[in-house]
Amino acid sequence: MNDQYLKSMINLIPDAAILVNRDQNIVAANLKAAGIFQTRVEELLNAPLDILIPESSVDVHRNHADAFLNQQQTRPMGAGLRLNGRRSDGSEVPIDIMLNRIRYESVDYGIAIIRDDSEKTEIEVMKEKLQAANTRLSRAQEVGGMAWWESDLRSGQMLWSAMMPRILGLQQNEQPSFSAIRKICLPEDRNQLDAIHGFSGTVSGKTVRYRIQKPDGEVRWIEETCHQERDDLLMGVLRDITEQKNLEEKLRRESVTDELTGLFNRKQFNRDLKSAYSTFVRSGINSAILTYDFDHFKNINDVYGHAMGDEVLSQAASLVKDQLRPSDHAYRLGGEEFAILLGDTSLVNARNFAERIRKTIQKARFRVGDVRACATISIGIAQFRPSDSCFEDALKRTDEALYQSKTIGRDMVSIIE
Ligand code: GH3
Ligand code: MG
Ligand code: MG
Repeated sequence: MNDQYLKSMINLIPDAAILVNRDQNIVAANLKAAGIFQTRVEELLNAPLDILIPESSVDVHRNHADAFLNQQQTRPMGAGLRLNGRRSDGSEVPIDIMLNRIRYESVDYGIAIIRDDSEKTEIEVMKEKLQAANTRLSRAQEVGGMAWWESDLRSGQMLWSAMMPRILGLQQNEQPSFSAIRKICLPEDRNQLDAIHGFSGTVSGKTVRYRIQKPDGEVRWIEETCHQERDDLLMGVLRDITEQKNLEEKLRRESVTDELTGLFNRKQFNRDLKSAYSTFVRSGINSAILTYDFDHFKNINDVYGHAMGDEVLSQAASLVKDQLRPSDHAYRLGGEEFAILLGDTSLVNARNFAERIRKTIQKARFRVGDVRACATISIGIAQFRPSDSCFEDALKRTDEALYQSKTIGRDMVSIIE
């Protein structure tokens, strides 16, 4: 058969092409086709079509090709499933094929235009991987209680993840907007929000904490970090940190609380005294500082036992706590020494207060089982003076006053003005 014409014709096709006869032997192939299968045109000529098909699908393919060559069928590009071709080294290459029939000198041939699909397949594989990664990311965000938003600053358009409304207690169909978040943010925390939602200056990398109130009234803590992706694109990630905040608060409280009495400890006393001194220096508002110490406490331990001693300390602390206003605070400085800070209080009022707690403790009967015990305290009072150079100056006078109470006779109140 003179198929020179067919060979020339196939070389004119700009795509990879091969020509097959009804016996499924390759009659002609162009250079591009040889390129896809990484072989030479001469190797393809007169070879069975099977050499271009992966071994596992040779049988299926032969039936398909047979059906095609014997019936009036065509196959456009992109139709049907993904196919693989076999390169000369046995490796596989994803391909797409367009099939047509031609008749030359009364003989039917099948002509296949072949496209190397590896690039397209790679993109599809990447798309699948990306999609899987996205799914994993949103699961991780869900597990970690994280949400994100992004805002186009030019158009004002905002997008947010499905976790946003869940974390914020908003309706799932709530239109994403900064104002929706701002509306549920506690008014006193709104300046935190405004600091990162693009209302003032540069925000990239800024993290803020604020509280929101959910529709059922529950208040939750949110931590949000902002990132300026582009001049006109702002992104944010946020999460609910209420449990973390509660834990932090618990630890903070524990670090400044005395275990036995539940009163603040010396660390907190020093802090509060310092801040009361600053208030006095700044605004002239003076606090009264009381320190008190149990009288002959050693005797209580000796006579009634250590458990009774502990009971006296914690019971007396409760009695004192009951007498405090919100602006007053009580502290255990150590052992059986205590302090009380009365905010914005004159010495006269401080003395009245001190007498009241002195009498309360004097009258109290402390119990462990059937045993009852009495206790008294000696109190010293002082205030800040304009001539003081630090808060310790006033504290020294308070201790001097307490010492006076002890030396004069105990169970009494002394003041150093
Ligand atoms: P004064 O009137 O001079 O203050 O006499 P005092 O016996 O109270 O003297 P001092 O302050 O020297 O002794 C305090 C005693 O308080 C000594 C210590 O064993 C006891 N104490 C300190 N802390 C505790 C405590 O947490 N529990 C008990 N049960 N006793 C304590
Ligand atoms: Mg004592
Ligand atoms: Mg003491």
